[in-house]
Amino acid sequence: MDKSQKVNICVVGTGYVGLVTGACLAEIGHRVVCVDSDKSKISALQKGKIPIYEPGLDELVAKNRKAGRLFFTGSVAAGINHEKHAAEVVFIAVGTPPRSDGSADLSYVENVTHEIAKNMTGYTVIVEKSTVPVETGEWVSKTASRLNKKNIPFDVASNPEFLREGSAVSDFLHPDRVVVGVSSQKAAALLKKVYGPLKCDIMVTDIKSAELIKHASNSFLAAKISFINAVSVICEKTGANVEDVARGMGMDKRIGASFLHAGIGFGGFCFPKDLEAFYWISKSKGYDFSLLRAVKEVNEDQKSWIIRKAEEELWNLGGKTVALLGLAFKPDTDDMRFAPSIDIVRMLQERGAKIKAFDPVATSNAKKVLKDVTYCKNAYDCAKDADCLAIVTEWPEFKKLDLEKLYGLLKHPIILDGRNIFDPQAVRDAGFVYKSVGRR
Ligand code: NAD
Repeated sequence: MDKSQKVNICVVGTGYVGLVTGACLAEIGHRVVCVDSDKSKISALQKGKIPIYEPGLDELVAKNRKAGRLFFTGSVAAGINHEKHAAEVVFIAVGTPPRSDGSADLSYVENVTHEIAKNMTGYTVIVEKSTVPVETGEWVSKTASRLNKKNIPFDVASNPEFLREGSAVSDFLHPDRVVVGVSSQKAAALLKKVYGPLKCDIMVTDIKSAELIKHASNSFLAAKISFINAVSVICEKTGANVEDVARGMGMDKRIGASFLHAGIGFGGFCFPKDLEAFYWISKSKGYDFSLLRAVKEVNEDQKSWIIRKAEEELWNLGGKTVALLGLAFKPDTDDMRFAPSIDIVRMLQERGAKIKAFDPVATSNAKKVLKDVTYCKNAYDCAKDADCLAIVTEWPEFKKLDLEKLYGLLKHPIILDGRNIFDPQAVRDAGFVYKSVGRR
């Protein structure tokens, strides 16, 4: 990269978003210092260990550390002024978890804002990368101004992140669009310089609109999932096939084929909490965004699909063993935050069922949140002597399971496919009772 195009960047928060952001911005040529207050994370990263499972991330971190473009430190002060390089752009990528009322907890964002304001030494763009409710930028700006005793010039910007866990590196490096919300041309120019090497569409708007784009996008995608899940219920009641319905709908360019895959509901650290936070901020502005409530209700209901189907086949679940394949909220991640499996296990256990489970990578995180579960070393071990087998996460390896072998291992040949990974005819031909979502 031409030296004049290189930006000194600090990324605060080295979770799923911060670490990917830092590594990818280093990959495209910038000098990046990543900061985290979690000392064990930083010490692992300084030793070249990646604390999360994300395909391709370990290679990227190793490569850019070696090239002298990526650094890790435990304090914002050291991150902003690192080896005589003052950060021109500081990304806030800390968590914004839900409070008990559903609103976003912005205390981590505030804490980081304090640290940035106290430590910046030259013109700085403070960027909200975390997902935050509309008008958070005003709070960041007000707070930073109050603590900026030396009157260092700064701007606040919103740059929401759209990456998906499991394909985060590729999503970051090849985005559909980059959204930049700014209040000055200077901040816009600097952020265009940061993202210039990606050669993608950069949409520049005001800060509030950028903040809303993120909440509105995630809520819209969640609505698509709940819509097709509601349609799947009607398919089950009438004998129609939800996959054909979705295909027929998706061929309409106005609708599009993505996010029309029926299943047992969405989870993860984004959709459930962003939906709640968007509802809450709308309500605080005097608008009851009832559509968002409905999206959540359909999703909650859909999570009990496995329980309903298990009871249809096994009658009482007390003392019966249910084998769950997949625990992470989606494939290719170890993230268990708000995973549907958590509610599914709770509902099964409330009915007295015993749970066996297998997930290719999420087991150690699952153990922290799911107790009284027998964790298995592979899918076959999980199926052994269980009364039924349920697919919870659509890991690609589950699609290749040997049905004949499973038939021999299960106590009853019952498969409840909550992610529609199998061909119904093939599974029935193998002798199973097979239930899938919205399909005969
Ligand atoms: P995460 O919990 O994985 O990471 C947050 C990190 O911030 C943690 O490592 C934590 O130790 C660190 N942190 C907290 N306070 C700190 C402080 N004062 N100083 C330094 N570090 C601090 O969270 P995440 O999944 O990366 O999400 C971060 C934000 O990005 C959230 O707002 C989320 O909604 C949003 N987002 C997440 C995704 C996703 O797929 N995970 C996608 C898009 C947007």
